[in-house]
Amino acid sequence: MIKFTYIYGPVSSWRLGASLGIDLLSGKEKVCSFNCVYCQLGKNGMACINRRNYVRAENVIEELNKLSDIHIDYYTFSGKGEPTLAKNIGKVAAWIKKNKKGKTALLTNSSTILYKRLWKELKDMDLIAFKLDAYSEEVFKRINKPVMGIKIKDIRKSLLKFRKTFKGKFAVQIMVLKENLDEIKEIRNFCEILKPDEIQLNTPLRPSGVQPVDKKTMTKVKKIFKGLPVISAYDIKKKKIKPINIKDTMKRRGKKL
Ligand code: SF4
Repeated sequence: MIKFTYIYGPVSSWRLGASLGIDLLSGKEKVCSFNCVYCQLGKNGMACINRRNYVRAENVIEELNKLSDIHIDYYTFSGKGEPTLAKNIGKVAAWIKKNKKGKTALLTNSSTILYKRLWKELKDMDLIAFKLDAYSEEVFKRINKPVMGIKIKDIRKSLLKFRKTFKGKFAVQIMVLKENLDEIKEIRNFCEILKPDEIQLNTPLRPSGVQPVDKKTMTKVKKIFKGLPVISAYDIKKKKIKPINIKDTMKRRGKKL
């Protein structure tokens, strides 16, 4: 079986189809500016908001070059933490755009959108899904546990500005939990102003520290978003896709064999 260090999958993603994960952090512990209550990577790790190179872009590109000719809808920057903390994300994304058939996607917790210098690196992504689990600072701190100094109101302001410049598909991902049900309407009203191309309602269906909301609750939440382009994790049937290395892929997704 082929062993890769920086890439995993492809997995069948309800949001992206056949998605090949790219992890530019690739350490033992997660590296993130948040410590979300539902994080499937666990509670421990490095909490930071400073960007640096964690792995060499050349090594990631070498693995991408070794990939056999399998069908991939999206090359997705995800992995062990917040992908945009890796300073070389723009370099790897640019290489994929030039050399591969699939599209590029980024799943981000939105914290680094505060850095305007990152915008240039992200401008050619085909899709970016921005996390937005809270409206108030109180719920933001309770659910996402950001590193000190990050405020949800600043993230909202930056998202509104970035939205105007970004030409790819702009999505918002909301983890629906009992902890944010009381402010779903405020999140919805903000989305109405932000005008994302897609609003993805998720709930922790994989092993995590908190319980998912049930289908009935999700249906109610979805109704609140009526009139906006909304999809929910309960609506979509995933296709079966064979990963290049099942064991590695399952470990990264918080599953045991
Ligand atoms: S943003 Fe993602 S990686 Fe970071 S703590 Fe939250 S769920 Fe985990």
